Amino acid sequence: MPNTSEQFYEKCRAIHDLQEVQQLLEWDMQVMMPRKGVDQRGNHQAALATAIHEKVTEPGLGGLIEELAARQDLGIGLAADVREAKRARDRAVKVPARLVAERAQVCALAQVAWEEGKKNNDFAAFRPHLEAVLNIVREMARAIGGDQNPYDALLDEYEPGMTEGALTATFSDLRDRLVPLLDKIKGARRRPSQDLVKRPYSLAAQEAFSRRVMADMGFDTEAGRMDVSAHPFTNGTFRDVRITTRYQETFLNMALFGTMHEAGHALYEQGLDPERYRDPAGQYCSLGIHESQSRFWENMIGRSRPFWRRYFPQLKAAFPGVLDGVAEEEFYGAVNVVEPSLIRVEADEVTYNLHIILRFELESALLAGKLEAADLPAAWNEKMRSFLGIVPPDDREGVLQDVHWSVGLIGYFPTYALGNLYSAQFARAMRRDMPDLDERVAAGKLGDVKAWLNANIHVHGRRYLPQDLCAKVTGEPLSADSALEYLNAKFGEIYGF
Ligand code: ZN
Repeated sequence: MPNTSEQFYEKCRAIHDLQEVQQLLEWDMQVMMPRKGVDQRGNHQAALATAIHEKVTEPGLGGLIEELAARQDLGIGLAADVREAKRARDRAVKVPARLVAERAQVCALAQVAWEEGKKNNDFAAFRPHLEAVLNIVREMARAIGGDQNPYDALLDEYEPGMTEGALTATFSDLRDRLVPLLDKIKGARRRPSQDLVKRPYSLAAQEAFSRRVMADMGFDTEAGRMDVSAHPFTNGTFRDVRITTRYQETFLNMALFGTMHEAGHALYEQGLDPERYRDPAGQYCSLGIHESQSRFWENMIGRSRPFWRRYFPQLKAAFPGVLDGVAEEEFYGAVNVVEPSLIRVEADEVTYNLHIILRFELESALLAGKLEAADLPAAWNEKMRSFLGIVPPDDREGVLQDVHWSVGLIGYFPTYALGNLYSAQFARAMRRDMPDLDERVAAGKLGDVKAWLNANIHVHGRRYLPQDLCAKVTGEPLSADSALEYLNAKFGEIYGF
């Protein structure tokens, strides 16, 4: 008879394996599946979701978790696994099946209504669906968190241990210091132009170049692959990680930085502890930490001067005639242009966080009932004006641009900005360990960067809560300081103030 912890691991790993299959089906649906297969795939996914839910909620696992949780002699690894298994199970057990089904239905309808509403620039048609989503999400939060702040109950799924209060404090600080930085950039005399990245870049050469950078980063192509999809994403784990990208002939940034972003996510998954990747605490720490890895590679490396010292000559050679006579410095400016814009996914490093803070402030007000859905477009536009100094001409380019709220993702947006904050903190810590980081990147030693991330972040999986991992790696709690210091120094130099 296997002992308690062996039984516990056997059950947890069986759940994990099914979740991997779930991801594979999802990847297939977005990349490979013929269009007419959608109904069949819906059946597969429902069957799998039911099987997983049964395994997570069955009393046997609950008993094992309780028995282990009561013991004082668990090592740090087992204790973390029990904590994480309990978190996942508690959430699953507390939400009645009726609510799960209702939520799926409400969100499916809301997503269709959002697509239509966006196409027709008709927020009023989407509004009743948004209200229904908010109601069901509030009910879920109550079921999970009881008297707990509803936003915290939702947030805990994406960023364990994080609270609305902590986010409010950090994000307000970030916002209050980003807006003046943006004003300085707007008023700067020196103005790099994006024209250089908007020339015709052949698609085949873009793919080859992106793949070369991805290989230099250390992406293991025998443990992962890259394909094309409408919206880039990363899926899968450990030795089967799938990333996607997309290409645009007249905009180099989309494929190149998109690939670096997703490859950053992929390196995290490929870097998990081989002995533990199927265990509850062996998986990625949180969405914020995941995003820190993608943003690290995309921005801290991909948009850095040392990176382009290395790659600009290669880029010129890969696209003959496109960049003749262009200086490295000019090109570095072109990939770092800051310009307030309407669309989050196209935002630069400085304004991106403001797009997220705007969404955080609005969704927390909506959830708390302090803002009515009917007043959302006006509130959105007012915040755009005050944060970025621009107002969307219509809701399509404003409140209707993102899918998240329609599918019930409340508490998810903050993880994007957290990823930026963590990435800046990790960069500072990396520089402390490797004072010659710039020289190494300029010499093409991206493997050194990967090795540091592997050892300091990836291998720990979910052993520590995100904030504890941050403190352990950087010696400091989560804060906006590193990000602001980084942004002020970088853009002060580019824009000359
Ligand atoms: Zn990402």
